[in-house]
Amino acid sequence: MINASLTELRAALDARKISSVELAQLFLQRIERLNPTINAFITVDPALALANAREADARIARGEAGPLTGIPLAHKDLFCTEGMLTTCGSKMLANFVSPYDAHVVSQLKAAGAVLLGKTNMDEFAMGSSNENSHFGPVANPWDLTRVPGGSSGGSAAAVAARMVPIATGTDTGGSIRQPAAMCGITGIKPTYGAVSRYGMVAYASSLDQGGAFGRSAEDCALLLNGMVGLDEKDSTSFPGPSADESGLPVPSKDLGDLCRDLNKPLTGLRIGLPAEFFGPGMADDVRASIEAALEIYRSLGAQTVEVSLPNAQLAIPAYYVIAPAEASSNLSRFDGVRYGHRAAAYGDLDDMYRKSRAEGFGAEVKRRILVGTYVLSHGYYDAYYLQAQKLRRLIAEDFQRAFTACDVIAGPVSPTTAWGIGEKTADPVQMYLSDIYTIAVNLAGLPGLSHPCGFGNGTLPVGLQLIGDYFSEARLLNTAHRFQQVTDWHVRHPSMAA
Ligand code: GLN
Repeated sequence: MINASLTELRAALDARKISSVELAQLFLQRIERLNPTINAFITVDPALALANAREADARIARGEAGPLTGIPLAHKDLFCTEGMLTTCGSKMLANFVSPYDAHVVSQLKAAGAVLLGKTNMDEFAMGSSNENSHFGPVANPWDLTRVPGGSSGGSAAAVAARMVPIATGTDTGGSIRQPAAMCGITGIKPTYGAVSRYGMVAYASSLDQGGAFGRSAEDCALLLNGMVGLDEKDSTSFPGPSADESGLPVPSKDLGDLCRDLNKPLTGLRIGLPAEFFGPGMADDVRASIEAALEIYRSLGAQTVEVSLPNAQLAIPAYYVIAPAEASSNLSRFDGVRYGHRAAAYGDLDDMYRKSRAEGFGAEVKRRILVGTYVLSHGYYDAYYLQAQKLRRLIAEDFQRAFTACDVIAGPVSPTTAWGIGEKTADPVQMYLSDIYTIAVNLAGLPGLSHPCGFGNGTLPVGLQLIGDYFSEARLLNTAHRFQQVTDWHVRHPSMAA
């Protein structure tokens, strides 16, 4: 059961081969056994999980089950959950219990999914390795001395170690795709605006996007189906377009059923390979797996064409101006007054703010608040922030040009496989550079997917990235699903999941 797909779990639940309560117990036992070593979960709530599972069983018995009813799930710990801690990986929110559910949380609750707990993450989603968590680093289930990637490292490690079948994450600059790649699972970040940000603790609002982790593209499609859709409480949430008979986009309530195209043949699919993604920066073992995967895509009927993203190299500098700028504004709400950490001893009000923030935030968060405040300050705004916004536009235009010549873009997710815990912590810029292949996608607001495509040096997972035009989630999932029908990278698992 721990290695079963969502479709198999659904069939077993519907046929009463297993109850939702038994399924929850099975995964809760695995969490109890494995979490002390992996540290993927910050909060686990067995009593609540079992209560939800009993409700799901009653619903199944009434014949009212949906695709996710009774399926165990975990949320990245920045989705607000009523009555359960939402720490965002920070000391600042270590005691925060949200009075309301995030939109995603309430949608998945309504679908009958069974929440097991909240997963570890880089503090305020700032990081690429999960080493910035107040609750300690997460270990990669494939090699416990290595990082799982970040910032949604807890969700990715939990799915890889079969502590939960599916989990949510967020991706501001790669935080779903990169940990999915490093942990050997599948992850999708949808088009900006596809998943409501209501109740997601904000990092960089114009880039933050919720998305899904699963073992396979099909599992991701089923989870994402339960997450997307218009939410009036998020002004950037959109009613995804669907085509009318003439092929023109018309507004609809959602992106349509994301499973609808899974089995479409890939014959004639044009896969664009950006020259900039295949330069010298990519490690040889990653390159070998990517090249082999492209060969499989060709054997499935796709053709590869060269495309160019000339401004992609500017993505990291643009991102590390825009994201800290937005973060410095978003994080100003944590002042020790309304919620979160408050210093035990202080003088006047200013001193209380200062001490509460100094004690509550970790080093990386402070660094970004300082950078963000600086680039937004009078005299520097034009030179940095405005300039970065212009680069952002150029990057988005590059993609639009590329999509006139191809249907999807393929490339690496990360230049290397997972690195050792502690290896890059002394050099933040080195850490930032590891996001080179993922960040441009967020700046442009496009959907991106990562699926396993091999092992570097034989032992560590490698991910392949697929990038699509706006609203092309169904096509990305279809592309990855066809690949997974003829390969077995996505069903391999770390030895602890045997
Ligand atoms: N690694 C990037 C950062 O540190 C992206 C993080 C994310 O996507 N949340 O900001």
